[in-house]
Amino acid sequence: MKGFAMVKIGETGWIEKERPECGPYDAICKPLALAPCTSDVHTVWEGAIGERDNMILGHEGCGEVVEVGAYVKDFKPGDRVMIPAITPDWSSLEAQAGFPMHSGGMLAGWKFSNFKDGMFADFFHINDADGNLAHLPDSIPPEEASMLSDMVPTGFHGVELADVQFGDDVLVIGIGPVGLMAVAAAALRGAARIIAVGSRPICVEAAKFYGATDFINYKDGPISKQVLEMTNGKGADRIVIAGGNVGTMDEAIRALKPGGQIGNINYLGQGDNVCFPRIEWGAGMGHKHIVGGLTPGGRLRIEKLANLVSTGRLDLSKLITHRFQGFEHIEEALMMMKDKPRDMIKPVVTI
Ligand code: NDP
Ligand code: ZN
Repeated sequence: MKGFAMVKIGETGWIEKERPECGPYDAICKPLALAPCTSDVHTVWEGAIGERDNMILGHEGCGEVVEVGAYVKDFKPGDRVMIPAITPDWSSLEAQAGFPMHSGGMLAGWKFSNFKDGMFADFFHINDADGNLAHLPDSIPPEEASMLSDMVPTGFHGVELADVQFGDDVLVIGIGPVGLMAVAAAALRGAARIIAVGSRPICVEAAKFYGATDFINYKDGPISKQVLEMTNGKGADRIVIAGGNVGTMDEAIRALKPGGQIGNINYLGQGDNVCFPRIEWGAGMGHKHIVGGLTPGGRLRIEKLANLVSTGRLDLSKLITHRFQGFEHIEEALMMMKDKPRDMIKPVVTI
């Protein structure tokens, strides 16, 4: 079969591989729609998780089942399915402890385009199919279903990690597709004020659509200074970090109220240390909580988030700005994700 791969750090290309084998609890799918991710950019061009040799990329998409193992109960060949980016081993101790994304080791629930070949292929493998596939509702087009693999669950996880409550002032740093879904989730959770940080007008417009009330351009000066000015020196109750770099945590801590909480979902591709400002962290005593997390995966979560789309509570149409038809365009779409043209939020390829 054919796949589009990370050949080595800094290099991608089309490769040929054997079709993956289906174990007794597994499924093999072929793609219906695929999307490249900023995480692929960190992985390939920043070498963020180390060297990978001819690993097929892609962890966002939906597909059609072509084969299932003997013990798979709920899926059969021909079913159209949604597929989470994170496909945990549900019987692992980490999953039983409530951290399925770390099943088998830190970040090891993230298999596609990390430890095994991803979805940018004629065929791909899904472990624990009953726990990691979900039936694709007729009401959700494949291109939108591909946003349910990672963009929606990750943005929403940022809001879970920041523990947004009714009436909170929430700061969302970064309003690419992940941050936009954090804005949408904060609005659904009952945030009062949602301050969105970004520079591209198309993202600012989309953030407004998803419920942001105030806007900051990080290029106009330190984010923390702008937030403190907007909030009479008090800062935000909750902060979701969905963009920036290793220096962004420093800004977030400065912009956070004592007792507040930061949920980081940004994948830090470069830099060695994340530093805290001592005084603004209350000299270690400020009750400023910080959590960083990989998005949870699995069937239940993708089904629940799909319910929000099916019922019209979450409109995904604003995320997708570029549409390609045909598997061969995946390379172009990935390069677009790398180069980030100013009019792009997310490209999708339908097969
Ligand atoms: P984008 O690159 O599309 O968006 C990044 C956002 O951050 C943009 O709004 C950008 O502004 C803004 N930004 C850039 N530099 C700074 C800065 N110095 N300070 C503040 N804001 C800045 O990324 P995605 O939305 O696709 O993904 C966001 C992050 O989430 C990525 O790191 C990705 O790898 C990660 N991720 C994490 C997952 C998880 O499970 N935790 C899963 C999926 C993705 P502008 O472009 O307007 O200038
Ligand atoms: Zn992704």
